[in-house]
Amino acid sequence: MTIDKPVFFFDCDNCLYHKNAGILQLMRQRIVDYIKNMGIPDKEAHTLRAQYFKDYGLALRGLLKHYDIDALEYDRQVDGGLPLDDILKPDTQLKEMLASLTTTRKWVFTNAYYPHAERCLKLLGIDDQFEGMTFADYRVPDFDCKPEIASYKRAMEEAGVSDPKMCYLVDDSAANVDVAKSLGWTSVHVCYEVPSNHGDYQIKSIHDLPTVLPQLWKSS
Ligand SMILES: [Mg+2]
Repeated sequence: MTIDKPVFFFDCDNCLYHKNAGILQLMRQRIVDYIKNMGIPDKEAHTLRAQYFKDYGLALRGLLKHYDIDALEYDRQVDGGLPLDDILKPDTQLKEMLASLTTTRKWVFTNAYYPHAERCLKLLGIDDQFEGMTFADYRVPDFDCKPEIASYKRAMEEAGVSDPKMCYLVDDSAANVDVAKSLGWTSVHVCYEVPSNHGDYQIKSIHDLPTVLPQLWKSS
């Protein structure tokens, strides 16, 4: 099967909604609480969370490598309990931006497990804008996640695209956009505070995406 249309991959957390929405802080605290419940003291729990995120792209990935824990139970306790309904509201500007992106296919590429990402998309009112989703599959022992190259290959396979030049990624993680760029994808870094030199393009908000890739929003 030949697919001649590019695929735009969208990260979910702190990308499709603003980092300042407060979800990031809540998520971090819930991860720390989970680690503390494993019997690890507060200070060490904070350090572990940050270290594992840095080393593995996802705190859970590190916890699974070093401790015997149940990933699905972790997901229920950490992401599953987030009060997203109180925080995320339909984003009509984002929806219009996505709806008017017709030169590419659109695909979610997240390090979350799918129920969390689906909840986010639904609350933002953009769940009908994507053809599919590549997520970190917590059911699989030793699952891969960004920025592991295996996860980018899996995303391409799942989205049905074989040419890296046909792939775009927008993500708030510098490590994630760096790997995408090294693989030949066109990558956009959503960087909120500090200036970034990661990726091919940098924006301060997902809403600014058309300003760096205007050609994609021009219909032929
Ligand atoms: Mg993110």
